[in-house]
Amino acid sequence: MDILKYTEEHNDFRKRLSEFLAKEITPYADQWEKDHIVPKSAWKKMGEAGFLCYCLPKEYGGIGGDFLYPIIAAEELAKTNQTGLMASLHSDVVVPYIYTYGTEEIKKKYLPRCASGDIITAVAMTEPDAGSDLAAMTTTAVEDGDEIIINGSKTFISNGINTGLVIVAGRDPAIENPYAGLSLYLVEDGTPGFTRGRHLEKMGMHSQDTAELFFTNCRIPKANLLGEKGAGFSMLMAKLQQERLVCSIGAVAGAQLIVEEAIKVLKETKYTTGRSLTKTQSVQFGLVELLTDVKIGRTFVEKLVAEHMEGANVLTETVMAKFWTTDMLNRTVSKCLDYFGDDGLSEENLLARGFRDVRIMTIFAGTNEIMKMVAAGNLGL
Ligand SMILES: Cc1cc2nc3c(=O)[nH]c(=O)nc-3n(C[C@H](O)[C@H](O)[C@H](O)COP(=O)(O)OP(=O)(O)OC[C@H]3O[C@@H](n4cnc5c(N)ncnc54)[C@H](O)[C@@H]3O)c2cc1C
Repeated sequence: MDILKYTEEHNDFRKRLSEFLAKEITPYADQWEKDHIVPKSAWKKMGEAGFLCYCLPKEYGGIGGDFLYPIIAAEELAKTNQTGLMASLHSDVVVPYIYTYGTEEIKKKYLPRCASGDIITAVAMTEPDAGSDLAAMTTTAVEDGDEIIINGSKTFISNGINTGLVIVAGRDPAIENPYAGLSLYLVEDGTPGFTRGRHLEKMGMHSQDTAELFFTNCRIPKANLLGEKGAGFSMLMAKLQQERLVCSIGAVAGAQLIVEEAIKVLKETKYTTGRSLTKTQSVQFGLVELLTDVKIGRTFVEKLVAEHMEGANVLTETVMAKFWTTDMLNRTVSKCLDYFGDDGLSEENLLARGFRDVRIMTIFAGTNEIMKMVAAGNLGL
């Protein structure tokens, strides 16, 4: 029995998206990996084809899709062997902040261009001395008449180079409680005082642009405050359940893709004995274990998605899913790499890039240690 009930519209969306990605995205993955960036034109093509911000109502450029659309998108993007086009981050993490907390004026101004791919968004929380501990953020946002002046620096910001609109977390230095003083602000590319630092070199996810962002007396209109002043922390927390579910489903889809690919290749490859490695019992057992992990992960995450769509609070289970699925994905790639031997290390192999790329997933969207801390706290341990 399927846990998630996909309609004909969902299935049609998946089919069209899968065909689009196979034609317009996957063939360019190697080039983008070398360029260390995805061209803005690829984002634009995604937008024009209707594959960005599908959950927005039609009036803002979307199709009013439910949460199954982000799930489908995360699954299909996981099959493209590239991580640079962070369309899920844009459509399903950043833009929902603007839709949920923006004023009507802000929504009309930005959302249609987010859906069309003309604006690529980013969210900037992390600072050189503030990662997991958001209370340690030092970026300040001070009101001055009709404007807000932002000062500070952010680092490891996904889409940092390509972005046209960043949600920046900053605090009012006059408020002592670091959580109560935190707010979210929209800063457009080109605003005086907003500059990029380094385009960061990472061990993996080479096609994804990750950058340092600097704000030096950066003045934005007061209207660019998202939601209530001081509500930044609770807004970030409110959206995390959804973000972590998207991350978990991407991890399960990635693990499934890798183990299925591995089985295909291992079946076809003859070793010195003249038999394929899948005829060796220890390898058979290992592959069965990996496939079992994928099935367990999928069942767990799909159940959480269904409950999330019914409005349930599944925060504790979601943090469990985030750490378990991303650990499982790393285990899967590592084990398949062992089975491939030296072939697995060849840059021509899907696994070499996969091994580097999936490593980050235990760190971003909240580190896996923090996930366990949150679960322990919620369980009253
Ligand atoms: C490729 C990439 C893309 C990213 N994109 C973005 C982005 O778009 N926007 C953004 O804002 N940030 C982004 N980040 C940053 C990411 O969110 C942070 O790396 C993450 O929050 C962890 O922070 P940190 O790296 O500073 O580690 P730290 O918080 O310094 O943690 C270091 C280690 O200590 C552990 N630790 C920390 N606190 C505790 C504790 N209380 N108890 C137990 N263990 C603890 C952590 O689990 C970790 O193992 C990105 C990072 C990468 C690598």
